[in-house]
Amino acid sequence: MIICGSLTRGSSCRHTQLLTALNESVKIVLIDFHTHSTASDGVLSPRELVDRALARGVDQFAITDHDTMAGYLEARRYYTQVEAQMMLVPGIEFSCRWSGVTIHIVGLDMDCQHPVMVAGLDRLGQARRDRGQKIAEKLEKLGFAGALAGAQALAGDSQLGRPHFAAWLVARGHVEDVGQAFDRYLGQGKAGDVKAFWPELAEVTHWIVAAGGTAIIAHPLKYKLTGMKLRRLVVDFKAAGGTAIEIYSGRQTRDQVSHLQRLATTYELQISGGSDFHRDGPYSADVGIELATPEGLRGVWGGWTRALRGGALT
Ligand SMILES: [Zn+2]
Ligand SMILES: [Zn+2]
Repeated sequence: MIICGSLTRGSSCRHTQLLTALNESVKIVLIDFHTHSTASDGVLSPRELVDRALARGVDQFAITDHDTMAGYLEARRYYTQVEAQMMLVPGIEFSCRWSGVTIHIVGLDMDCQHPVMVAGLDRLGQARRDRGQKIAEKLEKLGFAGALAGAQALAGDSQLGRPHFAAWLVARGHVEDVGQAFDRYLGQGKAGDVKAFWPELAEVTHWIVAAGGTAIIAHPLKYKLTGMKLRRLVVDFKAAGGTAIEIYSGRQTRDQVSHLQRLATTYELQISGGSDFHRDGPYSADVGIELATPEGLRGVWGGWTRALRGGALT
C-alpha cells in the first residue's frame, strides 16, 4: 500500500498519480441486457428500473419484458428527461417453441416500428387476448361471472395472464389464495388451463433480425437440455439468423459461465449477459453485472445503433 502523508488538498504527487492510474485500470463497468419491469412480470415500473440501473452505476442497460416492448418504450420516454450517460438499448424477451421445449430469446437494439416486429407483436397480443377470453369463458361456466373484466382491471397496463385471474378469484373471495386458485381452477389440467400460443424459435429470431436487432439465446442452462440438445438448439438458432448467447445470467457459477463460454467459442457466437432481474429477493441478482469479455470472444455491446443516452431527444 502506498501512503503519502505530505499531501494537501488539491495537490498531487507521483504516488497519487499511480493510484489514480491503478484505479482506472481496475474500474468495474456494469452492464445489464436482461431485466423485467411491470410491463411484464417485474415489480419495478420501467422508470423505477431505469433509476435502479442509474443508482447502481450501470453503463449499458436494456429492459427486456416478455413479449412486449412497452417497458422499453416507457423507459425511453422517461429517460429522455434524465441527464445521464448510461446507454438505454431497445429490448424484449420472446418465448417460443423449439423441439418441444419453451425457449426464451432476447432481442436487443431492434427498430420497434419495423413492420415485421410490429406484426409479430400484434400476433402475440391477439393470441394473449384470445387466451384470456377462453380462460374467462371456462371460469364463467363454473359460475364465476365477470372474470374477464375483473382480471383485466387487475392486469392494468401489464399483459393479461393466469395470475390476474387467480388474483381476481382471491379478491372476490372464491378462493383463499393464489395457490388455491391454481390448484382448483387454473393449474395444469384444470378447467382454466388454456395453453398459451408460442411462435416458433425461427419466427421470433427472424422478427428480431429483420428489425435490425441482435437475437440472443437467454439463460441457456435454464432449459436443462442435454449437452447434445443444447448444441442442436444453437445450430438451429444460428440457421435462423441468431448470433449471440447469454453467458452471464443471474447468479450463475463460474463453471456454468465457462461452459457457456466454450459453447460461444465453438459456435462463434457473440456473448451477452444480464441479471434477469424481476424483483429483490434472496436468490435473485441485483441489476447490473460486471462486464467481462473473455479472450477470443466478442460482446454484443460493441456497436448499438439505436441505444440512447439520457436527455437525448428522439
Ligand atoms: Zn427468460
Ligand atoms: Zn427474463
